[in-house]
Amino acid sequence: MTSPTPVPCPCSSGQPYARCCRPYHHGKPAPSPETLMRSRYSAYALDKPDYLMQTTHPTSPHWQADRAAWRIDLQVFSQSVTFVGLRILAVGANTVKFRAMLIQAGRDISFTEHSVFERVEGRWLYVKGI
Ligand SMILES: [Zn+2]
Repeated sequence: MTSPTPVPCPCSSGQPYARCCRPYHHGKPAPSPETLMRSRYSAYALDKPDYLMQTTHPTSPHWQADRAAWRIDLQVFSQSVTFVGLRILAVGANTVKFRAMLIQAGRDISFTEHSVFERVEGRWLYVKGI
């Protein structure tokens, strides 16, 4: 019997989604800033706005009090962008530098960001880019 081809994780880890970012999307705390970063990229790619909201620090400039409006913003982004891949460039104690490869309306909107994360009650949260 052949098993179905596993879905590759959108975070470009080379692992199947089920063994990569999926457990974090289902509630397992990401053990490091890098895994959180990867799981957030995958959440954007897979249109999972609630995970993105849950993993944004309340002091982040990206945090929004109006969750319904925030969810719509995230979904509009997820649904209008093709997530080509992610490259991790550098990892610090609470920082990750990465390149996110994205296409929107036929235009390359890829960007490099140095993100800061903070651990709150055992869970890593995204704070902001620096
Ligand atoms: Zn992944």
